[in-house]
Amino acid sequence: MSNPVAGKVVVITGASSGLGEAAARLLSTEGAILVLGAPRGDRIEALAAELNAAGGRATAVTTDVTQRAQVERLVGAAVSGHGRIDVMINNAGLMPQALLERLQVDEWERMLDVNIEGVLYGIAAALPHMKEQKSGHFINVSSVAGHKVGPGFAVYAATKFAVRALSEGLRQEVKPYNIRTTIISPGAVATELPDSVTDAEAGARIRELYAKAAIPADSFARVVAFALTQPDEVDINEIVYRPTRQEF
Ligand code: NDP
Repeated sequence: MSNPVAGKVVVITGASSGLGEAAARLLSTEGAILVLGAPRGDRIEALAAELNAAGGRATAVTTDVTQRAQVERLVGAAVSGHGRIDVMINNAGLMPQALLERLQVDEWERMLDVNIEGVLYGIAAALPHMKEQKSGHFINVSSVAGHKVGPGFAVYAATKFAVRALSEGLRQEVKPYNIRTTIISPGAVATELPDSVTDAEAGARIRELYAKAAIPADSFARVVAFALTQPDEVDINEIVYRPTRQEF
């Protein structure tokens, strides 16, 4: 039986490290055609070159998801280069944590911009093409913090609850266009994400949790592959997964 991922045109935001990079690596070995976006252009260019040298088909487009025109350009590269976009993985995100009383307002705004607005721009860029094609698949990355709140990550959790709300609304609206939607909510996965925590107290707590519990990023790649390899009529809408030893 042929691999259902082979030949799919997949756009990934935040592909320069962590979950996005792991998804790119696995999907490339499965034969997907990748268009990779991230602000660190050198990282995605190196990744694309490595995947292409191994027989893959990947393009890098430097993309800041808080800039709508850049997200349009990223999706435009898929459509002009390959004639379509089959999968949009809205993965880019930040997790600076701190108690609200610390008033890290700049970080709150940055999270709203990247984690919510970035996902909206991804939807805005890909939806018209998927609607016209009458096919497509959105994968939006939330978190276990999109299901539960705790002290120190109220704003991050708010952005990840928002990703789930947007994705569920999208799911209901795109039925006529044969578009699938999947929310993936990981627990602690070893990536560069804790580096975005600037608050000393929250940083220490996060680093301790990740040192104790975090699992490798290829766990995310396998979850993505699971959602993408279902038969066309099967729409996997939500997956929550976490390290076996993680309580939260
Ligand atoms: P990383 O920090 O390793 O990767 C984050 C990615 O997002 C990088 O590629 C980064 O690009 C990109 N990014 C940051 N800002 C922007 C921006 N303005 N525009 C475009 N891309 C941007 O973390 P993860 O891989 O862990 O994070 C990926 C997603 O997974 C996030 O949405 C995160 O909230 C979510 N998540 C992660 C969990 C974990 O434990 N790791 C748990 C639950 C959810 P660059 O470095 O080039 O700036």
